[in-house]
Amino acid sequence: MVTIRKCPACGSKKIKHVRGRWRGDYAGEKYTVPNLDYYRCPDCHERVYPPEAMRKIQAHSPAYSKRLAIR
Ligand SMILES: [Zn+2]
Repeated sequence: MVTIRKCPACGSKKIKHVRGRWRGDYAGEKYTVPNLDYYRCPDCHERVYPPEAMRKIQAHSPAYSKRLAIR
């Protein structure tokens, strides 16, 4: 698990680890990812996703599942 200590957008060190249900939106289609680990900056509200989180989001994304369904 990658640990992020500084916000890449504003440089704030208050960036916090969050674990919880994440809601995504792909082309108007909403989807949720349960128990996602990501980081959130309280100063600029930037959300940062470590590679593990990106993989989890992709696995739940309608874009990804559709691509698998086509071929
Ligand atoms: Zn920030």
